[in-house]
Amino acid sequence: MADIIQLLPDNIANQIAAGEVIQRPASAVKELLENAADAGATEIKLFITDAGKALIQVIDNGKGMSETDARMAFERHATSKIRNIEDLFRIKTMGFRGEALASIAAVAQVELKTKRAEDELGTYIEIENSQVLKQEPCASAVGTSISMKNLFFNVPARRNFLKSNAAEMRHIVEEFTRVAMAFPAIFFSMQSNGQEVFHLEAGSLKQRIVQILGSTYNAKLVSVNEETDYMNIYGFVGKPETARKTRGDQYFFVNNRYIKSAYLNHAVNTAFDEMIAKDSFPSYVLYIDLDPSQIDINVHPTKQEIKFEDEKIMYAFVQAAVKHALAQFSIAPSLDFTLNAEIQGLDAVSKPFTTDKKDAASSSNLFKTFTQKNQAHFIEGNERSELKHWKEFYTPQPPEGGVEKRAEIHVPQQLQTSNYKLQTLHVLPDTPLLQLHNTYIIASTNSGFLLVHQQLAHERILYERYGISAHGQQMATQQSLFPVTLELAGSDAALLSDLLPDLLTIGYQVEPFGNNSFVIQGIPADVLSGNEKNSIELLIEQFKHFSSDIKFSKREKLIRCMARQQAIKAGQSLTQKEMLVLVEELFTCGSPNVTPTGSPTYLEFKEDYLDRMFGR
Ligand code: ADP
Ligand code: MG
Repeated sequence: MADIIQLLPDNIANQIAAGEVIQRPASAVKELLENAADAGATEIKLFITDAGKALIQVIDNGKGMSETDARMAFERHATSKIRNIEDLFRIKTMGFRGEALASIAAVAQVELKTKRAEDELGTYIEIENSQVLKQEPCASAVGTSISMKNLFFNVPARRNFLKSNAAEMRHIVEEFTRVAMAFPAIFFSMQSNGQEVFHLEAGSLKQRIVQILGSTYNAKLVSVNEETDYMNIYGFVGKPETARKTRGDQYFFVNNRYIKSAYLNHAVNTAFDEMIAKDSFPSYVLYIDLDPSQIDINVHPTKQEIKFEDEKIMYAFVQAAVKHALAQFSIAPSLDFTLNAEIQGLDAVSKPFTTDKKDAASSSNLFKTFTQKNQAHFIEGNERSELKHWKEFYTPQPPEGGVEKRAEIHVPQQLQTSNYKLQTLHVLPDTPLLQLHNTYIIASTNSGFLLVHQQLAHERILYERYGISAHGQQMATQQSLFPVTLELAGSDAALLSDLLPDLLTIGYQVEPFGNNSFVIQGIPADVLSGNEKNSIELLIEQFKHFSSDIKFSKREKLIRCMARQQAIKAGQSLTQKEMLVLVEELFTCGSPNVTPTGSPTYLEFKEDYLDRMFGR
């Protein structure tokens, strides 16, 4: 038998590698921008056509490449950034794996133009399918321009897998934003289909953040700044009032690299504990610098995840630094230097950190008084508005008593026995409804009683109501007297733009206002005005949670989110009339017995069952 193992040809090996590094246009954008930053550019321009599906081009004024390097750059594992294994532990550049350009050349039609300052002429290279088609000297400015056309032109399966332009654009904006935030000293611009989307002059960190997140942040950032022997942390957290219902503006950079870390995110959240509502997310842009030997960034091909040598120290450090910053912001108006000194003296903000020291910060009296004050303020406003909302929504109808007017009640399917028989029940008119724990409604029927879960029942009612309007006539909109503007992070803005037509069908009249902002012209008639912003932010956040769920259409997801969002909550006290309308409306639903996600909305307890329980 002949031997059967063969080495893969380069172009195939590169295509396989590309699968990890270049998943979508945004991944290529990230790699190209990072290469430009690594090359020491002070100006980086990104050009996008068709959400990167047709063209992605990055032009920089960095150090450029020699003729040989320009050719070498496209070989796999070709890098100028590490030479030996020790280098892997002192990485200061964004790239180091030498895979990006090889991967890009394997799945797109690439043109490179590059020139170093010391060279008379630059180099032009055309390459596709990992094959060099052309290489010649050319006139060029100092720096590098790489353009890649028709991404995945030779891998149709991957090309077909790309999402809508709006979705791909959202990913691109996200990556662009992250790189731009990491390098405020570099000028960045971005054009999409010939229109300038970002124009970010070089400046301070704060200027860059405000340029990207929006000028409403200007006065609302609290600066974080702690230096220790082990690491430094700096950047900004949003004041508690900037917390949003949607997890938009949360950024961690470690040694200038954007990273995802649920663990560190948790540390920031707990620092905000009790200063913001439970279901909202603080905004932050935090930079951590530490000795590269303390982290391993080589755990993931796209380098968005890293391992810390000591995670617990990181956690305690981040949490304490944010708490410290928030505490200073809170007491600043009183300028009480003794208090200030007290914080400074906290173990948890001096160096270095250990896990048990982190408790010192959270249990300090200072933090407690501080958080309680804010908590009381915050919760009061919130609950009131929900209550008011609910009452307006369920404006009690004029009483029209009489047994025959009562809703007909179907037995929930889960409770039906195998010899299924649809029964009709009547909620007894003269028996008052009883609310238990502000969550359950007990309604007597002619053959027992129902235990209705108020939130789940309401979710079903709203789901059907929104469903009808989304597929039939548009939901009633109340025009805002004073249209509210909404400013979002780039990726959220792209998502919202994508949803506008569907939002309109359920009553949200939202118009783009340029620069990632929107004007809310009208909201569904049953959303409390004054709550417009919140409700849209919440909707975006919930939608994002849903968005991996491909079995639902966009519209279906929206309707489900809306129903969940607008449903009255458990814990809310209801009047007799409100309970009655809720129960009546529930039983006019097509499927009153379950929520859209399949939880029961009520349970039925029959008299004969109750009798049996008591041995009667
Ligand atoms: P890595 O960034 O991991 O080294 P890449 O495949 O992204 O790998 O790039 C390969 C090499 O090409 C880099 O190490 C660098 O020397 C060179 N290079 C890439 N892009 C540029 C650029 N914009 N300017 C100058 N050199 C570049
Ligand atoms: Mg690179």
